[in-house]
Amino acid sequence: MNIHEYQAKELFEKFGVPSPKGIVASTAEEAGAAAKTIGGSDLVVKAQVHAGGRGKGTFKNGFKGGVHLSDTPEKIQELAGQMLGQVLVTHQTGEEGRLVSKVMVAEGVDIERELYLAILMDRGTARPVIVASTEGGMDIEEVAEKTPEKILRQFIHPLNGLQPFEIRKLAAALKLSGDQAKQFGKLLKNLFTLFIKCDCDMVEINPLVVTPAGDVLALDAKFGFDDNALYRHPEIVEMRDTTEEDPREVEASKFDLNYIGLDGNIACLVNGAGLAMATMDIIKHCGGEPANFLDVGGGATKEQVSAAFKIILSDPNVEGILVNIFGGIMQCDIIAEGILAAAAELELTIPLVVRLEGTNVAKGKELIANSDLAVISADNLNDAAEKIVAAVKG
Ligand code: GDP
Ligand code: MG
Repeated sequence: MNIHEYQAKELFEKFGVPSPKGIVASTAEEAGAAAKTIGGSDLVVKAQVHAGGRGKGTFKNGFKGGVHLSDTPEKIQELAGQMLGQVLVTHQTGEEGRLVSKVMVAEGVDIERELYLAILMDRGTARPVIVASTEGGMDIEEVAEKTPEKILRQFIHPLNGLQPFEIRKLAAALKLSGDQAKQFGKLLKNLFTLFIKCDCDMVEINPLVVTPAGDVLALDAKFGFDDNALYRHPEIVEMRDTTEEDPREVEASKFDLNYIGLDGNIACLVNGAGLAMATMDIIKHCGGEPANFLDVGGGATKEQVSAAFKIILSDPNVEGILVNIFGGIMQCDIIAEGILAAAAELELTIPLVVRLEGTNVAKGKELIANSDLAVISADNLNDAAEKIVAAVKG
């Protein structure tokens, strides 16, 4: 799960990570009022979407940049008006872009240096890694590609946690000394605590800035949370903005379905993640392309099967469905009933191949054979994949 920058600021405040004051706005007028509340003549307005690269992004209406500096509330209001309701395309959004329905107005900050700081969970070493660079700002991707030696990684022991010597090492690498190193140390320590306490899988601050006055501040924030730990953080779940997520995946999560949309045209409905992976593999092996990964779980109920069909059919690319269910806990006849009910209710017009195996399989197959619906029955996984690929191609 991801959150917006203005929400990240709330977490920064709670954990003592210094960052400029910001106020979220949904209309241009609200943005103008927010600018007045913040006051001063250094103001910045930023599009709030779950994607980076806003500064260099372009709106589909031609307006350039999702981050703008200005000196009066009137100008901030006008800039917000240009962004709100428009679709912003950045190198992270893909060409479809993201609709901007909120902006954040913040105190503008003078910048002397832009640094990069992130904490990630590293799978390879199974520990948190702090990534830092003196070359922060909008071109960090280019830095990583052309001068990878300028990106530093500090792996942190998962039980011992962040050590003072590691903080000093990073501060020195970022060319921070004296009071700046002290400020950085406190910020990094608090950020690391936030990362662990909130079960993040990523926090990225780009840029982390040093101001001419010598202060160290987080000027941007990108967060990712471990979905499997969200049950421990109801206050973070409240920050979820489902309008930023794939609507099919949002719908699936309501029914406890594990769904991930893909680019192909053969939908699969499977129980168990391993079986789902195997099913996708064999579809490819037989010359087809899977349209999704969909695991209805071990206990697949009729409601879940029906919800799964609806989600699958909402994808215009889907030209055929392969159901591959192993009746272990579930009985095949119950599953067959669920499939037939869903297919009838949704007036299915595309080919549907069903392969059942396990408890009560004979009864399940009989139900399918006796139904009026044009369901193609398959005997094994290979047979099922060949049949659906042929049905879609034909
Ligand atoms: P991103 O493009 O989505 O990563 O958005 P950022 O929040 O990082 O903003 C992009 C760039 O705008 C930053 O790298 C800064 O150079 C600049 N920027 C953002 N906020 C301020 C600010 O308060 N003052 C100044 N001078 N520049 C800013
Ligand atoms: Mg940034």
